[in-house]
Amino acid sequence: MTTLNDENYYEKQWEFMSASQYKSFTVCEAKALAELTGEIPKENTEAFLVGNYVHSAFEGDEAHEQFKKDHEPEMLTKQGKLRAAFIVAEEMVQRLKKDTFFNNLYQGEKEVIITGKLHGEHWKGKIDCLNIEQGYFVDIKTTADIHKKIWSENRRVWIPFVEAYGYYEQMAIYKNLLEQKYKKEFTPYIIAVSKQSPCDLEAIEIREELLVVSLNNIKGNLERVSGVKNGEIKPRMCGKCDYCRGHKELSGFVSSEELIS
Ligand SMILES: [Zn+2]
Repeated sequence: MTTLNDENYYEKQWEFMSASQYKSFTVCEAKALAELTGEIPKENTEAFLVGNYVHSAFEGDEAHEQFKKDHEPEMLTKQGKLRAAFIVAEEMVQRLKKDTFFNNLYQGEKEVIITGKLHGEHWKGKIDCLNIEQGYFVDIKTTADIHKKIWSENRRVWIPFVEAYGYYEQMAIYKNLLEQKYKKEFTPYIIAVSKQSPCDLEAIEIREELLVVSLNNIKGNLERVSGVKNGEIKPRMCGKCDYCRGHKELSGFVSSEELIS
C-alpha cells in the first residue's frame, strides 16, 4: 500500500476507499464510477471550495494563504472582487475564531491523514483536528442550514443534514480506524457552521448507536460498492442525478404515478 501524504492524498482513489467515495457509490453507482474513471470531471463546486476555505483557515495561516493563492481565479469576480460565497466563508471563519467553546475544543493535530482496513477494504481519511491524548476528534462541516430537515426516501423520515450527507458513516469509519491504530476509544464531534448571514453554529455529538448502525450499513453495502469499483459488477444508474439524466434513453412507458415515487 502506498503511504499517503498531503501531495498524493486526493490522487489515490483506486487504492483506497474514502467515506466520500463510499457515499457517492451509495447515491449513484454510475456517476461515482464515471467520476473515478475520469469520464466526467470531479465536481469542484463552489460549496466544496467554501468548505476548504474554512478548513484551511483553521489549519494555519500558511495553509490559508496558500489556499487563497491557489484558488484566486475561482474566488474573485471578473471585476476582481471577492465572490459572495467567499465573503460568507470569511464570516464563518471569523465567527468560529471568536467562539470560546470551539477554540477550547479545537485543540490537537490538524488535517491528519489516517489509513487502515475496515470490512476487508483499505480506507483513507483526513481528520480536521485530532486530539489523541484526550481521545476525540473534530470535523468542521459547512452547510446551508444546520437545522434543515431533509427527506429520506429510504427511511421515509425527515433526517438532519449530518445523516443525509453521510457524516455518520464518515465519523464511524474515522473512529474505527483511530481505535485500531491507537488501541483506545475516540469520540467524534462535528462543528457545524451555516452559510447564512449571520451564520449559525452548533457543536454536535452523535449517539453511539447511530455510529454502530452506520458501520453495519457499510458492511452490508461494501461488497457491492467494491465490486462496482473494481469492474466486477455493472454499475446501476440512479435515474435521478445529472449524470443519469444526461445518459438516459427511453426504453418504454412509466405510469404517471411512478413519476413521483
Ligand atoms: Zn445517477
